[in-house]
Amino acid sequence: MNLYAPDYYPDFRCTAGKCRHTCCAGWEIDIDGDSLKRYRRMRGPFGKKINQCISEEGTPHFILGEEERCPLLNGENLCELILRRGEKELCQICADHPRFRNYWTGRTEIGLGLVCEEAGRLILGSGHPLRLIRLEGDEEEELPEDEKELMRLREELFRSVPGSGPAARLREYLIYRHLADALYDGRVEERIRFVREAAEEILAGWDGQDLPELTERARRFSDETEYDDEALEARLSGQKKPHA
Ligand code: SF4
Repeated sequence: MNLYAPDYYPDFRCTAGKCRHTCCAGWEIDIDGDSLKRYRRMRGPFGKKINQCISEEGTPHFILGEEERCPLLNGENLCELILRRGEKELCQICADHPRFRNYWTGRTEIGLGLVCEEAGRLILGSGHPLRLIRLEGDEEEELPEDEKELMRLREELFRSVPGSGPAARLREYLIYRHLADALYDGRVEERIRFVREAAEEILAGWDGQDLPELTERARRFSDETEYDDEALEARLSGQKKPHA
């Protein structure tokens, strides 16, 4: 399977303790089955601690602490699991964040989400239009007709992005992130409208210069919409209109 990503993708590094908005707080962190088995087998004081932090009520998850912080996040906003056992022990959701994937026939596209401030810095600060690079695979690709059509439409949307700079990078990100999901739900027109409205909302009143300000606006939007299925559905279906 060929794997593609924007060219800034390999430069991404989580800034961990330096991050102002840790992603290890404010949402339920579910634990996949393989990780759960590994955690349940951990011994020693840390094994005891991690096992006390897990609930298997419903989907297995970490029991959040004060201010909905992950119980393994220490006072310096560093993950104790990484510090003590290494990144390889992260559960799927933590290892993946802030990445998303689009699955086409014979090709997977990966991207970084604007919900992460460091990803936002890379995405919006990129000095050129979105460029995909192949990270893995050298297989012949033969997309079915409907996927070819969607790919063509996406190229057209990329080409029609007005201007340059961070505002253009934002529009490209939204197209890259959201249009391919029409492969599953067929909601091409709704997604195109959503992408346009989302960009207009995030950019409304922005001075065109202050990149950290735009990164923060995009981060908030992503947090409230891209990671909340109900909010995203409300936007897609037009029930929720963009803020003025
Ligand atoms: S938001 Fe990004 S930079 Fe911050 S802790 Fe999460 S992955 Fe790391």
